[in-house]
Amino acid sequence: MTALCPCQSGLAYADCCQPFHLFKIYPQTAEQLMRSRYCAYVLKNINYVIQTTVPNQQAQLDRTLLQNWADSTAWAGLQILRHQPAVSKIHSTVEFNAFFTVNGEKQAHHENSLFVKIDGRWYFADPTVDLPDRKQPCLCGSGKKFKHCCGAYL
Ligand SMILES: [Zn+2]
Ligand SMILES: [Zn+2]
Repeated sequence: MTALCPCQSGLAYADCCQPFHLFKIYPQTAEQLMRSRYCAYVLKNINYVIQTTVPNQQAQLDRTLLQNWADSTAWAGLQILRHQPAVSKIHSTVEFNAFFTVNGEKQAHHENSLFVKIDGRWYFADPTVDLPDRKQPCLCGSGKKFKHCCGAYL
């Protein structure tokens, strides 16, 4: 299969996000993970979107809502604006625009996403679900207080 990857890397899907989507290999950087998650939205692979969110947050995700959003969105491209690979030892951020069309008009969803490394794997830290209080243990399982860990960047 030579179809180009929907994440717009310029590579074939089979050489880009597909091995991630099949969990054959794991993204080595937060930017790779971000691309593969955008790609999963384009391909309506909600399972991948959920599995690459911080494990402690996965139960809070609304699968039906995510599926409906993916089904009803006409994606129109991805633009990575900035990848900060080491905002801490275990945190990275990726700022991006995800484009989509509504009634033929191109719009951008702009986001600066936080990614956290847990047991050697990158995960997306979702800021839209219920978050711990500042002094509670962090959602990522680091054992630190939320405010001294992921909470410092969300
Ligand atoms: Zn890709
Ligand atoms: Zn944390």
